[in-house]
Amino acid sequence: MQPVMIVTGGSRGIGAATARLAVARGYRVALSYRDSREAADAVVTEIARGGGEAIAVAADVSRECDVVRLFDSVDRALGPVAVLVNNAGILERQCRVEAMDAARLARVLAVNVTGSFLCAREAIRRMSTRHGGQGGAIVNLSSMAARLGAPDEYVDYAAAKGAIDTFTVGLAKEVAGEGIRVNAVRPGLIDTDIHASGGEPGRVERLAPAMPMRRGGTAEEVARAILWLASGEASYTTGSFIDVAGGR
Ligand code: NAP
Repeated sequence: MQPVMIVTGGSRGIGAATARLAVARGYRVALSYRDSREAADAVVTEIARGGGEAIAVAADVSRECDVVRLFDSVDRALGPVAVLVNNAGILERQCRVEAMDAARLARVLAVNVTGSFLCAREAIRRMSTRHGGQGGAIVNLSSMAARLGAPDEYVDYAAAKGAIDTFTVGLAKEVAGEGIRVNAVRPGLIDTDIHASGGEPGRVERLAPAMPMRRGGTAEEVARAILWLASGEASYTTGSFIDVAGGR
């Protein structure tokens, strides 16, 4: 039976690229989304046309009841999850810390940090040999922002990704003896919609000349690193990070 991968935020960007590549590599995929039902359905249709199996589930990762429903739906539709890609993430309009209010901070932390914890919890309850599972892999989406800090743009988002780095290290050690590997990818400047969400659709073009490789990356380039960490090729790799950032 082909293994099951859950990709949160699989309707667009890096998550959609990961879902497509995962199917090409032999996974059955469940992708979640928050608002973009049409985009999620389009990814599923494209995968089905190519002979692959995928489902889309509406689930806000910051809502505990949605996360529980997502994993229950996947159990019923596809069977036990083998890989979780904690990809769903948000940033808000570029601004300085002195302009950030508590509501914004709560939203950014809820999706990027709490959402990743809740999804990992549900995955561990199914994967861990302690709970009768077969083991598995979790890949978290961090960011180079965790190291660079994103000054004048979104220090809140960068700090949330710093939390994801610590989460990756701690969780990897916690479940290493239970058949679960936990790793993270730190993308750099990747050409997706997320920059428009921050208020600057042309951000990749603006910053590309300053990158060591003189360009932004693609969602597919990040997906390849995610798929490697998820695979048996990475069988002795846990608590590790791959920077997919063009040398930034
Ligand atoms: P994107 O194009 O903005 O797509 C975000 C995805 O996350 C969408 O599928 C969106 O669903 C989903 N999502 C957002 N909030 C959600 C929630 N509360 N619950 C469930 N799904 C939610 O972003 P991206 O650039 O592909 O980024 C993917 C990941 O890579 C994020 O964790 C991001 O922080 C990280 N990253 C990206 C870059 C970059 O330069 N692009 C760099 C470093 C790290 P809807 O379509 O329904 O809104």
